[in-house]
Amino acid sequence: MTPRDATRTVRAGVEHDSAHGAVMPPIYLSANFAFEGLGARRAYDYSRTANPTRDLLARALADLEGGAGAVVTSSGMSAVALVMQRLRRGELVVAPHDGYGGTHRLLSALQRQGSLRVAFVDQRDDKAVERALAERPGLVWIESPSNPLLRLVDVARLARRARECGALAAVDNTFLTPALQKPIELGADLVVHSTTKYLNGHGDVVGGAVVARDSSLADELAWWANCLGVTGAPFDAYLTLRGLRTLHARMRCHVENARAVVESLRSHVAVERVHYPGVGAMASFELRGGVGAVEEFLRGLRCFTLAESLGGVESLVAHPATMTHASMDADARRRAGIGDALLRVSVGIEDVDDLRADLDAALERALATTPCEARA
Ligand code: PLP
Repeated sequence: MTPRDATRTVRAGVEHDSAHGAVMPPIYLSANFAFEGLGARRAYDYSRTANPTRDLLARALADLEGGAGAVVTSSGMSAVALVMQRLRRGELVVAPHDGYGGTHRLLSALQRQGSLRVAFVDQRDDKAVERALAERPGLVWIESPSNPLLRLVDVARLARRARECGALAAVDNTFLTPALQKPIELGADLVVHSTTKYLNGHGDVVGGAVVARDSSLADELAWWANCLGVTGAPFDAYLTLRGLRTLHARMRCHVENARAVVESLRSHVAVERVHYPGVGAMASFELRGGVGAVEEFLRGLRCFTLAESLGGVESLVAHPATMTHASMDADARRRAGIGDALLRVSVGIEDVDDLRADLDAALERALATTPCEARA
């Protein structure tokens, strides 16, 4: 019997300790590992290059995503930067126009300094995608669902077209995790994660990872990660592996709660529009009353914390225009459809009735500030 994903996730590294038989794997914080003698290197020598605790996490992530290997990095952004590092000078990246603000900022900055070229396109628009592919990109970057409007693209189709055009396809799978979407099975070459989010799941680590379909790509990324020094800390890897064990159980609860929360949002008159792709636990919505209603709504919340991140057990709310996507200029935000009345929620695993009651109360406050003509 081959154990299923949830089983392998719980058991990653369990019964691994040959020294004492510790059931849970020990943490190796040591920066150095002694040589056995001159020229006699052991399996590990220096923790920037490789570390046993970080390797356990890398193996677990590669296994879950169905890749040949993974590199664990110090943040999601260093994972994104690591992928860009492979590109030749001036090479084209086709990226979504409505992706995570930090990725948009990095690609724009690399373009400004002449390291690469970027075509930000609406990846749901086949013609725009084909026009960009005709320019022979080196990389197609995919984020689905996108942040913060949760738009979906056909990952399998984009990955196939990327391959046909000689480009690598990389998918930022932070929002869904391998519990809900496996980009490598859909044809992607690389999967990127901000492990800060659902994979760790407890809001106490900033980390990232890149999983590669084939081992030569994984080796190349590991070489660059060591060269640049962007590998993650062993303590963070330990915590992330600990969080990862409950991924499937958490995601079940996150998704169930998100569906109920979306139902509440959709039925409230203070809400103009809800963005939820039917999968995952992130949703965004626009309030009818504009920025005034946003302020009142946020003041009324008790169970959702106003904070940047997402994917933890605790519910969070963010205002993308001034927080997660403030690094995009106003024009780019407008093109992406990110308005000032847009809010994004990361639905946690609290009691769902508490979450719904909290949202309802805050929406009532928002409604009180909304002019009557806007309520129709
Ligand atoms: N990718 C996505 C989709 C994100 O939402 C984020 C952060 O919010 C990142 C990448 C960057 O991750 P980190 O904050 O861990 O650097």
